[in-house]
Amino acid sequence: MKEAEKLHYIKRREMVETLKRYGIANRRVLDAFLEVPRHLFFESEAVACAYNDGAYPIGFGQTISQPYTVAFMTTLLVERCPSGKVLEIGTGSGYQAAILDALGYSVFSIERIFELHERAKKLISKLGLHVVCRHGDGTLGWMEHAPFDGIVVTAGAPGEPESLMRQLAERGCMIVPIGGNGSQQMTVIQREEGVFKKELFEYFTFVPLIGREGWDDTVF
Ligand code: SAH
Repeated sequence: MKEAEKLHYIKRREMVETLKRYGIANRRVLDAFLEVPRHLFFESEAVACAYNDGAYPIGFGQTISQPYTVAFMTTLLVERCPSGKVLEIGTGSGYQAAILDALGYSVFSIERIFELHERAKKLISKLGLHVVCRHGDGTLGWMEHAPFDGIVVTAGAPGEPESLMRQLAERGCMIVPIGGNGSQQMTVIQREEGVFKKELFEYFTFVPLIGREGWDDTVF
């Protein structure tokens, strides 16, 4: 391993220790965080911040989520839907998609900002990940590949996203932060025999989910 890579690995191990202190205990999730080189999802001038415990701007008013947030959402998914096809809404930097790929899911990801979509798609292909990316409004889901065993929404939704719920497989679950601008409650919606079961967790702060079944882009 090159010197720089060794340093990144050490910082990654520290990040995983922080996640453990915060209560993330799922071994598969922690291993994925150790494996995925988070610094590669940052622009070169920001690489030094890659392993800080926080969200970070990725351009176009968007952010790569805090490691704890990604780990929390991923744990909710892994514990309920350990394998299969997952749709991510909000590719952003591509980091969450890479974590899902490392966990062995078959990953589909949609991003509404063209430049972010292009950047993430290039990086994902350079890293040889099996993530299928698309530019568009993720609130409508991805009908051609539905149903999904998991759906992870990485932007704050104003309410329960109905089109996405319809694209969940039986026993499939959606992880989605729901709430007004500034604070959203992490929510799990799981389909069981055609009925949607809801579980509520702690509050986070996400950038808004903007689209036909999300927020109106004139509000932001
Ligand atoms: N998962 C990302 C987090 C990015 S922040 C990561 O790991 O880096 C959330 C992203 O959701 C932003 O890039 C934003 O542009 C995108 N987004 C917001 N509304 C969307 C929509 N309707 N469809 C697809 N992407 C959306």
